[in-house]
Amino acid sequence: MPISPDLTHSLPPPASVDVAIVGAGIIGVSTAYALARAGVRVAVFEKGAVACEQSSRNWGWVRTLGRDLPEVPLALRANRLWGEIQDKVDVGFRRSGILYLQESDADAAGHQAWIDGARAYGIDARLLGSREARGMLPQTARGWTGALYSASDGVAEPQLAAPAIAALARAAGAQILEGCAVRGVELSAGRVSAVVTEHGRVAAQAVLVAAGAWSRLFCGNLGADFPQLKVRGSVLRTSPVDAGPMAAVNGRNFTCRKRADGGYTVSQFGASMADVVPDSFRLMRLFLRSWMANRDFVRLRFGKRFFEELGIPRHFPMDRASPFERHRVLDPRPSARGIEQAWRRLVHAFPAFRDARIQQSWAGYIDVTPDAMPVMDAVPRLPGLYLASGFSGHGFGIGPAAGEAMAQLIQGQAPAIDLHPFRYGRYGS
Ligand SMILES: Cc1cc2nc3c(=O)[nH]c(=O)nc-3n(C[C@H](O)[C@H](O)[C@H](O)COP(=O)(O)OP(=O)(O)OC[C@H]3O[C@@H](n4cnc5c(N)ncnc54)[C@H](O)[C@@H]3O)c2cc1C
Repeated sequence: MPISPDLTHSLPPPASVDVAIVGAGIIGVSTAYALARAGVRVAVFEKGAVACEQSSRNWGWVRTLGRDLPEVPLALRANRLWGEIQDKVDVGFRRSGILYLQESDADAAGHQAWIDGARAYGIDARLLGSREARGMLPQTARGWTGALYSASDGVAEPQLAAPAIAALARAAGAQILEGCAVRGVELSAGRVSAVVTEHGRVAAQAVLVAAGAWSRLFCGNLGADFPQLKVRGSVLRTSPVDAGPMAAVNGRNFTCRKRADGGYTVSQFGASMADVVPDSFRLMRLFLRSWMANRDFVRLRFGKRFFEELGIPRHFPMDRASPFERHRVLDPRPSARGIEQAWRRLVHAFPAFRDARIQQSWAGYIDVTPDAMPVMDAVPRLPGLYLASGFSGHGFGIGPAAGEAMAQLIQGQAPAIDLHPFRYGRYGS
């Protein structure tokens, strides 16, 4: 269930830090943890509560499977880091295995092509035949032609993870301020010199924007264009189910993974909905190809969100309440149709769910880029400003490695992972 903010928990901001981070999602807190361990004075500013948006609302999958190939090294590194974090504090990480079920020759060909491309990175994923897939899922009532399987992929608990990493960062010396929106960034002599928060100015030599779905608005106010839209993902959780699959499963039009509380987090790729907003028209040229490729999964919807976003100013001053204070937490309504459909298909595939109850449903706005990969880079023409955002529905699993790489970049070190595929300028901005 998503985390709600307790706005009484807000420290007075420090006068100065080395690095200020905007946003306490998995990316912001993971970067802060890596920086604090390196002895850097770092503060994270969060308008709501730690992980109140995407980072507590996601499915909790920590996967290498099916990733765009440039993200595979990040996913492998993150898998290791999740293990190290779990040794220190409970984030619910376990290598449960993940299965992508196959129903057609086209599914099998797609999985084979992915394995062929990713093999060079040393992944342990492999293709299972029909009998082996069935053997791994004795609970299923259906036959599958096979599956793509990774034994080392797994899950973590989104409601535990970012808050626990934030606690580790605090223990290492980072400051994490909740209920403290950053309105903007001050420049001196052409480079970043401070953030202006709703509770005052904080001098900083570097600023990382890790603001999730708000990064486009934040950067745009500084004159930096970041092409990003939002897709609404809907999720449900069930009461405990003893006889369900232990591995996380992606089937056609349903996904499920066992939770630490014994229930399941259930959804489907097709439960995603893109609200048509003014930015949809501004960014149409860049996103058209992605809309066409995903039209079976993401439905377009024109509704009141268009007018809500129309009412959010794109440019705003720093001496009065900003849009970030007026919209503390993005808390969209789940799509009843999308989750009902996922639930029906799950019960059809795994009859053990028939007696389970749906205990809760929720939604989250997923921030997406035109090529569905994040930007992790310094922002050109604004020395001292960095951006790590646009994780396009799969930033939770790679969060710890993304944070580590951003911390290296901000300290002027060569990141251990090649960040070139994630450069800011690749959309021509
Ligand atoms: C339904 C759903 C399912 C998903 N499933 C998975 C999955 O299984 N596996 C996976 O890897 N990923 C998944 N994702 C994606 C994953 O959750 C995100 O990629 C990841 O959490 C992004 O982290 P973030 O830190 O960039 O953003 P967020 O978690 O959105 O954090 C950004 C934070 O910045 C704050 N903020 C914004 N502007 C300001 C400001 N001006 N001042 C202060 N604070 C500000 C916000 O309040 C927010 O808390 C899913 C996402 C959703 C919604």
